[in-house]
Amino acid sequence: MAENTNATAPALNGRAYPIQDHTYDVIVVGAGGAGLRATLGAAEAGLKTACITKVFPTRSHTVAAQGGVAASLGNMGPDNWRWHMYDTVKGSDWLGDQDAIEYLCRHAPDAVYELEHYGVPFSRTEDGKIYQRPFGGMTTEFGSGPPAQRTCAAADRTGHAMLHTLYGQSLRHSAEFFIEYFALDLLMDDDGACRGVLALSMEDGTLHRFRAKRTILATGGYGRTYFSCTSAHTCTGDGNAMVLRAGLPLQDMEFVQFHPTGIYGAGVLITEGARGEGGYLTNSQGERFMERYAPHAKDLASRDVVSRSMTVEIREGRGVGPEGDHIYLHLDHLDPKILHERLPGITESAKVFAGVDLRRQPIPVLPTVHYNMGGIPTNYHGEVLTLKDGDPNHVVPGLMAIGEAACVSVHGANRLGSNSLIDLVVFGRAAAIRCAEQIEKGASQPDIPQAATEKALARLDRYRYAKGPEPTASLRLKMQKVMQANCAVFRDGPVLKEGVEKIAEIWNASDGIGVSDRSLIWNSDLIETLEYDNLIAQAAVTVVGAENRKESRGAHAREDYPDRNDAEWMKHTLAFADYGTKTVSLDVRPVHTHTLTNEIAYIEPKARVY
Ligand SMILES: Cc1cc2nc3c(=O)[nH]c(=O)nc-3n(C[C@H](O)[C@H](O)[C@H](O)COP(=O)(O)OP(=O)(O)OC[C@H]3O[C@@H](n4cnc5c(N)ncnc54)[C@H](O)[C@@H]3O)c2cc1C
Repeated sequence: MAENTNATAPALNGRAYPIQDHTYDVIVVGAGGAGLRATLGAAEAGLKTACITKVFPTRSHTVAAQGGVAASLGNMGPDNWRWHMYDTVKGSDWLGDQDAIEYLCRHAPDAVYELEHYGVPFSRTEDGKIYQRPFGGMTTEFGSGPPAQRTCAAADRTGHAMLHTLYGQSLRHSAEFFIEYFALDLLMDDDGACRGVLALSMEDGTLHRFRAKRTILATGGYGRTYFSCTSAHTCTGDGNAMVLRAGLPLQDMEFVQFHPTGIYGAGVLITEGARGEGGYLTNSQGERFMERYAPHAKDLASRDVVSRSMTVEIREGRGVGPEGDHIYLHLDHLDPKILHERLPGITESAKVFAGVDLRRQPIPVLPTVHYNMGGIPTNYHGEVLTLKDGDPNHVVPGLMAIGEAACVSVHGANRLGSNSLIDLVVFGRAAAIRCAEQIEKGASQPDIPQAATEKALARLDRYRYAKGPEPTASLRLKMQKVMQANCAVFRDGPVLKEGVEKIAEIWNASDGIGVSDRSLIWNSDLIETLEYDNLIAQAAVTVVGAENRKESRGAHAREDYPDRNDAEWMKHTLAFADYGTKTVSLDVRPVHTHTLTNEIAYIEPKARVY
């Protein structure tokens, strides 16, 4: 597959690093739902496409998505993409860009039908249509009607079904896969354009330079900056960190979603679909407390609202369990047949991870880090944006981002459940369409500047031979505990300030990191160190952004600034990281207050109550 082995063998500190070169029209980094949808789309359009992934495609975190994918099909009651758009704007607490949200909601039904035609085995209604369940924050009639049944589901294994189908379809269209290849860094030229990516094959330790007209980052979220999260160990935001190292900004990183129902202790997710099917939460007095906090939507209020309500109950002494530190989720009143048909996966999770039989017992749950609203700023074509000469919408040539790694921004300050899977396929598809429009197939490409390769290699070499006293695992644990304690569901000025200082200390201490194994073949110590290096910079931009934003909006709830402040803070945060000084600098980008077409008017901000 390599066109040119040993073309260049840069030497670092006297050590040679032979490199194999590859050239494609499009390189996708990541084989989750977003990466596979883009890979499939680009390959289908006849572009020479390769997908690089550090885990086998169907092991990407998307495989764990249970609840479903939102689209206003209207199979189980009236629905309209405009209602979906209203709910998403409101869910975002008016931080989402409304042109992008219109694009998402308008194209969602087509993207789901496309999945159906590709072969996703959706659950079905009596008359054979795609089954749809209610999900938090999804309503009808612009918030004034009853809950919408909008979330299309394949039992409680929707992400699993999507990944397997998209992988199969990508192979059918002859996309090439580089599996268990770890992407190290973007290769940028002197004009600030992305020319490709450098990757390490973990199986045999060989290095590969991929040259492409478009590099699409689809590397997922960075939940692993926190101690308790629902996401896989691989969710280390590698693409986000590559962007920071390229001197480009990340956007709205202070917005971290806590899912109300992670299993207490294990962090494993119990889908919101459980409440969609009729599940409810209780405190130590057996009270269905959500009726007090969200009289209308109750247990199906949006995630930030439910997570905060649970935290207040626990703080005020109404938590359950010996230490009064969690909440119960009940499904024991539901028909076992429904549980068996619609929620088989979580029946098993409850048994394995909480030791409960959910047909008879409540599940102990706690708000757990689940999703990163922030990420690489893009427009709705998936093109990466940066701030240049005062223009906050300057497109970075050659670079795109999609999925949880990206911040389009459709989720703003808080994502609605089932809106991520639809984001993956709508913008994965949009990115492929953009590539097909703009790329001249097979046209020649300039050489990648040698300096870019050497810079990426230097980082690899530095960690490979790091011999400081600090083990990666202990630095990582310290970072995760600080993020959990200082930047969680409720935030406060002094606590955040302390968080900023502690994360800076840990980042500085990382200069003393030590790696014990020098091999390049299946060196998990080295890979985890590279991932930790990616995580710590994202922890820093997250906590610095949170300290800086002096208001409460969506998932960012400050005790010292309890209200949303549109006059001063209805704007995106842009965060840059300086790896030399290990510091973060912030800037802003205006929120788009225009829609895409005149088929819907700008949705004016108002108080967000459920
Ligand atoms: C338990 C759980 C349940 C969820 N349920 C739902 C749901 O029901 N509905 C919903 O809408 N959302 C849900 N979400 C959110 C949603 O699943 C994720 O946001 C989404 O799957 C992310 O997809 P992605 O394609 O962006 O990235 P991922 O699926 O995380 O894939 C990332 C890919 O990038 C690759 N990669 C990363 N770094 C590198 C590197 N350095 N080199 C090479 N490859 C790399 C990985 O190998 C992987 O292929 C859930 C999330 C979790 C954690």
